[in-house]
Amino acid sequence: MPVRSKDNFLVFGAPRIEQAEIDEVVASMETGWLGTGPKVAQFEKDFSTYLGSGHAAACNSCTAALHLALVALGLKPGDEVITTPLTFCASVNAIIHAGCTPVLADVDPVTMNIDPEAIRQKITPRTKAILPVHFAGRPCNMDAIMAIAEEHDLKVVEDCAHAIETTYKGQHAGTFGDFGCFSFYVTKNVCTGEGGMVMARTPEDIQNIKVLGLHGMSADAWKRFSDEGYKHYQVVHAGFKYNMMDIQAAIGIHQLKRVEEYFVRRCEIWDMYQEAFKPLPVGTPAEEEANTRHARHLYTIMIDPVYCGIDRDEFLMRMNKQNIGCGVHYLSIPEHPYYQERFGWKLEDTPQAVALGRQTVSLPLSAKLTDDDVADVIKAAKICLGI
Ligand SMILES: *Cc1c(COP(=O)(O)O)cnc(C)c1O
Repeated sequence: MPVRSKDNFLVFGAPRIEQAEIDEVVASMETGWLGTGPKVAQFEKDFSTYLGSGHAAACNSCTAALHLALVALGLKPGDEVITTPLTFCASVNAIIHAGCTPVLADVDPVTMNIDPEAIRQKITPRTKAILPVHFAGRPCNMDAIMAIAEEHDLKVVEDCAHAIETTYKGQHAGTFGDFGCFSFYVTKNVCTGEGGMVMARTPEDIQNIKVLGLHGMSADAWKRFSDEGYKHYQVVHAGFKYNMMDIQAAIGIHQLKRVEEYFVRRCEIWDMYQEAFKPLPVGTPAEEEANTRHARHLYTIMIDPVYCGIDRDEFLMRMNKQNIGCGVHYLSIPEHPYYQERFGWKLEDTPQAVALGRQTVSLPLSAKLTDDDVADVIKAAKICLGI
């Protein structure tokens, strides 16, 4: 008998949705204002208030946010952007779609974040930007990264898809670089179904992002359909269609109100996992660094066959048979054929990320989980490891 029955499968990354967001979505639909409107403006305001600084532009995904940020930097074909090999493919694809060349700098095996020393080694005369990812919610070493950027006159775009609650020396992730990009995908800490946010340090930069994200139409276009009468728009860029809808913002506004409450719940789950898994032959996450806050987006264990007797993929298969859904974050970027063929990336160039990517498993960490759910995950993992 599996720990859970098939019809009670524990879905990885299931969102916690409450009545307030359901009511707000219904209200949006009843007013008929479904597209970009007052709720998006409210969500942007709330989000920048939560982060404590910066200017916000909502869009329809973090992938779009990253693309817009890189385009707004005005990088040219052939410019190199350094990022981590232990990330979601969107971080790298955004660099490619902005017309630039991605360059991978290996991660620190303990923090799983991009290693500032590795960044230094990858800098060439063509390097124009760094795109760090605050992996699992743990902040990158922003002092070191910003120092490198200053020294070499590089732009910084932070991928904060895991890092809404993350702080580094009291400052929120996403407010250090020129741009910070957030995700509200279903599995993320605040969700809107699909959705993203660009944070910028200056009002000019965020205005540019808003223009680029809505067809490249001049700022007035946002008011085009208001009751002030028809306004002509002017196209000033070949822009994109990346705007967020009010229906999405309706969910986000209420999710964001509960961001700290959900964070506290994930901390409790995290602590239960740490207590259960530390004595086992699996690798567990390092403690958070002093003066930082880890957003607790992913709880990852490492399945090394030398210690566990089974490899990661076998563990995943066994957990699935126990009806527990797990994630893999991530098979490292150089493992994928497209990047191998296009950039000639070799696994031995970023050995830490490749090794982590072959051993890592993300266990369910949604704020929706009950204590019984967490107990099921732990029990199932022990069975799968033969303990
Ligand atoms: C989820 C994620 C993205 C993409 O976010 P979307 O909102 O789904 O486009 C980008 N980078 C990282 C690290 C992610 O985890």
